[in-house]
Amino acid sequence: MAQVVIALGSNLGDRKSHLSNARRFLSDMSTDPLVASSIYETEPVGEASTHSYFNAVCCMRTMLPPLELLEQLKQYEQRYGRDPSAPRWANRTIDLDIIDYDRQIISQQRLHVPHPEYDKRLFVLQPLSEIFFFFFDFRSGQSINSLIATAPKIEVFKTRVIW
Ligand code: AMP
Repeated sequence: MAQVVIALGSNLGDRKSHLSNARRFLSDMSTDPLVASSIYETEPVGEASTHSYFNAVCCMRTMLPPLELLEQLKQYEQRYGRDPSAPRWANRTIDLDIIDYDRQIISQQRLHVPHPEYDKRLFVLQPLSEIFFFFFDFRSGQSINSLIATAPKIEVFKTRVIW
């Protein structure tokens, strides 16, 4: 059974509903109860992105191998309105990224784990530190607090939104 960390993001339409629905989808796929962070509000990144984001992180357990899990996530994104041909940082209803898959290093054309940019994204690191206070990058040994201290600074606010 693999323990997997997924990052969720939405900056179009009803952002809370998009995150709640995706959380239910992940929960249905998980063999154990899902562990979920609070929702964080984040300033948009990149020129193609104009609305602020709701971000969160969830931890699930699954029997699905990494590429099958990725396929499920990408199908879900497409089903719920994400345009796969839109620019990389374009506004999106829902974005689901695999941050960590059972502490494995995966380097394939379609999938890189740990997610190549997670350590530069405060909107992933802040919620991750909430659910994994003792998280560390198993390649560098850096603690989550040290990753947060060195990541590029952007505005990330923990919200009280119930989801
Ligand atoms: P995104 O813009 O975040 O939806 O990602 C675009 C592409 O990144 C996807 O089609 C995936 O094949 C690829 N990708 C590579 N590594 C990952 C990962 N760890 N999680 C999610 N997508 C990934």
